[in-house]
Amino acid sequence: MTLHQNLIAGEWVGTNGVENINPSNTKEVVGLYASASADDTKTAIAAAKAAFPAWSRSGILERHAILKKTADEILARKDEIGTLLAREEGKTLPEAIGETIRAAQIFDFFAGEALRLAGEVLPSARPNIGVEITREPIGVIGIITPWNFPIAIPAWKIAPALCYGNTVVFKPAELVPGCSWAIADILNRAGLPKGVLNLVMGKGSVVGQAMLDSPDLAGITFTGSTGTGKRVAASSIEHNRKFQLEMGGKNPMVVLDDADLTVAVEAAANSGFFSTGQRCTASSRLIVTEGIHDKFVAALTERLKTLVVDDALKPGTHIGPVVDERQLATDTDYIDIGRQEGAKLAFGGETIARDNPGFYLQPTLFTEATNQMRISREEIFGPVASVIRVKDYDEALAVANDTPFGLSAGIATTSLKHATHFKRNSEAGMVMVNLPTAGVDFHVPFGGRKASSFGSREQGKYANEFFTVVKTAYTLA
Ligand code: NAD
Repeated sequence: MTLHQNLIAGEWVGTNGVENINPSNTKEVVGLYASASADDTKTAIAAAKAAFPAWSRSGILERHAILKKTADEILARKDEIGTLLAREEGKTLPEAIGETIRAAQIFDFFAGEALRLAGEVLPSARPNIGVEITREPIGVIGIITPWNFPIAIPAWKIAPALCYGNTVVFKPAELVPGCSWAIADILNRAGLPKGVLNLVMGKGSVVGQAMLDSPDLAGITFTGSTGTGKRVAASSIEHNRKFQLEMGGKNPMVVLDDADLTVAVEAAANSGFFSTGQRCTASSRLIVTEGIHDKFVAALTERLKTLVVDDALKPGTHIGPVVDERQLATDTDYIDIGRQEGAKLAFGGETIARDNPGFYLQPTLFTEATNQMRISREEIFGPVASVIRVKDYDEALAVANDTPFGLSAGIATTSLKHATHFKRNSEAGMVMVNLPTAGVDFHVPFGGRKASSFGSREQGKYANEFFTVVKTAYTLA
């Protein structure tokens, strides 16, 4: 089997390969991917540092052309890359192709942003002096990504980093190196100069830690668990570098008595269970007012019965497998905890066997949960959601905000008054009205509050807040 190597200083290097296993069929090896050492990581950081002066002064047409070429190739190969994504991560093929298209859109957007770089010119407070405000790249950026969006998250960090003139050391999650290798290969062939993007696949405790320990990274942009995010933060403060964290969620979806039942059920089914519930924006707390509670639970349970859990590549599959054995154990542990805490198991709860050996779990719905239970407070990151009964909108809002997290929040209602109030008073970074809490656009800011995020927003033009630093220059006329 071909070994997919790391890209360091423009060369493909590495000898020791790790098997990338398909969670829909654990007998199937998706590919063999190199595992970098701490020394390889140091070499990659040195290469990115050496490449920075030239790339930071590169022309906008060069940046535009490389990013646009990358977008075009990803789009042209969406079925092939989408299939690779579904095989390595386990989301269904339509979801995986959708994510691949999104990655292409992100590269396309930042290809355009390269042509729209701009500053401001202001008069000084003093006569005969002009003031220019410009944005400059910050240097070498460390990019550390999780396994649940194997192509979209790398895209939304790599594309702006390069667009604004930074160089990159990129460490994808161990479980899903395939799509990251594909991005690095495409950018490399699109003409990126040597050392501008370095791919270092490998363990978090080795490659990731070597990045955290390096004094030569000007910034780290991280998406992953809150625990690892705290390590990124602590090391960044020690090294006086910029950092941006996108972490866990425990997203609420409020359903009010006046909701359109079909809209509410569809939003909850999508947010809670699609992509196997493995989205940071998934809603795992369904906060439902008394008047609609029983109807909503009955309709959602009926909807869950229609969802087919099977091989990610099989036509007709709605929910693919859980990503690996460890995540499956976490999910089933939380299902046991929910039962012990006194929540009622209304649907699912069991692992299931399919034709191929894989990590299959039924979509699982608890009812009669309280917001104090561990299943309501801790991120599970699987196809498990709980219904919390409340008496009215005011209690629903209070429960929605009573969480350490603050990424996304949704409300299903036909009341303009409640929708407007919820948008203003939800303590989440993103608010959805009559829509799933998951599923966002590529050209607008993405991010949360409280323990979900730290630092400036990702995506859209707001990305420049992290990937650039502002300079103010005064000139005597
Ligand atoms: P994780 O924290 O285990 O791993 C994330 C990345 O950090 C991986 O590349 C891993 O190898 C690396 N890492 C691990 N230990 C490290 C260390 N000591 N030093 C440096 N890097 C290290 O998270 P995960 O399990 O891959 O992803 C799931 C989590 O990601 C969930 O909590 C989910 O909510 C979160 N997530 C958040 C968002 C968001 O935008 N808020 C998006 C997707 C996923």
